[in-house]
Amino acid sequence: MAFDIDMIKAVYAGMSEKIAAARQVVNKPLTLSEKILYSHLWDGKAKNSFVRGKSYVDFAPDRVAMQDATAQMALLQFMQAGRDQAAVPSTVHCDHLILAKEGAKEDLRSSLTASGEVFNFLESVSNKYGIGFWKPGAGIIHQVVLENYAFPGGMMIGTDSHTVNAGGLGMVAIGVGGADAVDVMAGMPWELKFPKLIGVKLTGKLNGWTSAKDVILKVAGILTVKGGTGSIVEYFGPGAQSLSATGKGTICNMGAEIGATTSTFGYDDAMERYLRSTDRNDVADAANEVREHLTGDDEVYANPEQYFDQVIEIDLTTLEPHVNGPFTPDRATPISQLKAEAEKNGWPTKVEWGLIGSCTNSSYEDLSRASSIAQQAVDKGLKTKSEFGINPGSEQVRFTADRDGLLKIFEDLDATIFTNACGPCIGQWSRTGADKGEKNTIVHSFNRNFSKRADGNPNTHAFVTSPEMVAAIAISGDLGFNPLTDTLTNEKGEQVKLDPPFGAELPDAGFAVEDNGYQAPAKDGSTVEVKVAPDSKRLQLLEGFDAWDGKNITGAKLLIKALGKCTTDHISMAGPWLRFRGHLDNISDNCLIGAVNAFNEETNKVKSQITGEYDAVPATQREYKAKGIPTIVVGDHNYGEGSSREHAAMEPRHLGVKAVLVKSFARIHETNLKKQGMLGLTFADEADYDKVQEDDTINFLDLDQFAPEKPLKIEFVHADGSKDVIKANHTYNDAQIEWFKAGSALNKIKEDAKA
Ligand code: SF4
Repeated sequence: MAFDIDMIKAVYAGMSEKIAAARQVVNKPLTLSEKILYSHLWDGKAKNSFVRGKSYVDFAPDRVAMQDATAQMALLQFMQAGRDQAAVPSTVHCDHLILAKEGAKEDLRSSLTASGEVFNFLESVSNKYGIGFWKPGAGIIHQVVLENYAFPGGMMIGTDSHTVNAGGLGMVAIGVGGADAVDVMAGMPWELKFPKLIGVKLTGKLNGWTSAKDVILKVAGILTVKGGTGSIVEYFGPGAQSLSATGKGTICNMGAEIGATTSTFGYDDAMERYLRSTDRNDVADAANEVREHLTGDDEVYANPEQYFDQVIEIDLTTLEPHVNGPFTPDRATPISQLKAEAEKNGWPTKVEWGLIGSCTNSSYEDLSRASSIAQQAVDKGLKTKSEFGINPGSEQVRFTADRDGLLKIFEDLDATIFTNACGPCIGQWSRTGADKGEKNTIVHSFNRNFSKRADGNPNTHAFVTSPEMVAAIAISGDLGFNPLTDTLTNEKGEQVKLDPPFGAELPDAGFAVEDNGYQAPAKDGSTVEVKVAPDSKRLQLLEGFDAWDGKNITGAKLLIKALGKCTTDHISMAGPWLRFRGHLDNISDNCLIGAVNAFNEETNKVKSQITGEYDAVPATQREYKAKGIPTIVVGDHNYGEGSSREHAAMEPRHLGVKAVLVKSFARIHETNLKKQGMLGLTFADEADYDKVQEDDTINFLDLDQFAPEKPLKIEFVHADGSKDVIKANHTYNDAQIEWFKAGSALNKIKEDAKA
């Protein structure tokens, strides 16, 4: 099935000229990452070069992908933009809200009951606005994107951190918050700090038990969970070309675990094979015509130290299989040292579960290699000691693996085949006994292994490794088992050794599928009704926020002065609140409940100036709102750090907070506040934070003259009648001030569309 070939051809048609312009301004050979970035500038051709790690640049991504949990608020907001269709090709994928419990059929049925209204909403809104919809069971967003939409040299964003997986097909693919997706779908530029570049040179060739997963497990060990922050990791060298496209996807996928903006590989024969095998001959033909632009310049790869900010070299020939964990994906242990490490650290060595799947490792090649180990267990008279669970990455992979007998091999080992969905990777795993909190070990082929992630039990020691190693370790039931050297005792009491895995990069008979789970949107969605029940607890249609009345804000009260760290999690908690992500009013009951009140150093306990009593933050704020009393929030340094969660800006806005005044902002949160029509301000003099008192009344003195680069004056009238007038800086440009005046960026887009 070919998608968007016209769009892809248009991208390729403009590439030559744009890359030539980039060459001129950069004035040196270009990496692949630079070629892709400079050929996706919002303003067209490059007029000047950008400073890595410093310049903020507007880009024009080619497409958007959203998963079911994050798509809800993104699409509710997009509906406010007043557009008939998404401005770029976009898709929604139902994969996160599906529980793994009994097995694919039963689990899918119960998830359709539990989250049916969310799926119906996503389906109807996609249908209306020209957005492709992948229904529950169709597969995991990133595997489906790789199979259908990713293309070499493209740029995409997705509302999920593992969007980076599409780097396996030579894209610059970046995980973002819903607000960014809304911008791009609404036809606005998308801003990114021009990344730094880390080059990873791969030499040699994988062999034996080592797989592509081990490359990123090794890189994670080197760079740690923070080492890739603000950078694109670009892989190159002969070793890179020897890896399959899905193997490259695995490596890029876990770039998220080192904090990288994204990771990518140059276009090569393996990518071409994958494109053709997934029914995209037209994309492969088009890519072949611009092949020179789809990889870094030869000189860059010959002398990488001169062109990358950091260079790492890994020899695939000598690379050992790794098992990373527990509790963090950068704790990298080569298999030869795992037994000793486990003993030294007291990790439980009895392995309870082996899980294969997730967007990281659920390709046909992954299932094929892991099943070669499972088959040996059957052939050699071994019984698996651990339980086995498999989540195929997509219906296309599942159907093909089933046709080719791969799933049967796992079933012969009593494996449970779960839905083609995220399942245990995102805590959607109803694991029997997990609530007892017992110390135990599981091994999986996923990407993340933070405490509680898979089954909610903080004492589950989760180890990340390749699917073939998961199979071997689960069969042995022993974390200390090294299949390269150790033997196992079979049912007859004989010592048997597992041979190294083997598998097909791509299915010999090609991929097949009966129903891939895709639903194309209506050609004309104008009469399609978006399905949201008026009494829904999980979904609520948004109403545009009120426009600014043009007057100074006066008589405002202090809702909370937050002390110390105040992340987006403190402002809008996750956990059980995630189920209300599509219902702004309900989720607003978590607004700022994690922030520490500077006056009593307690959370969720602030003084109401209406009653004089202490109460929860959301309840207090709702009372101010009901009485028409404006409020402000005061905060410390790096307010809003953590994630790009737009709820952290939308909730205070919805509840009637007018301004957030802090010592400093995390930039993404500051932008999110601006987009929602809030005032995000910083103390010109940080010491003024101390002047803010619990019972203050706050008056803006010159907001009616709001202009770029002109600080605002704010008067704090204290309970004893004394006053402090402080200066507040802001970073609003003209366009952003228009957002504020209109009530939000989306209101402004709507106004402009009508004009
Ligand atoms: Fe995220 Fe796991 Fe789903 Fe991948 S499989 S998209 S990492 S939850």
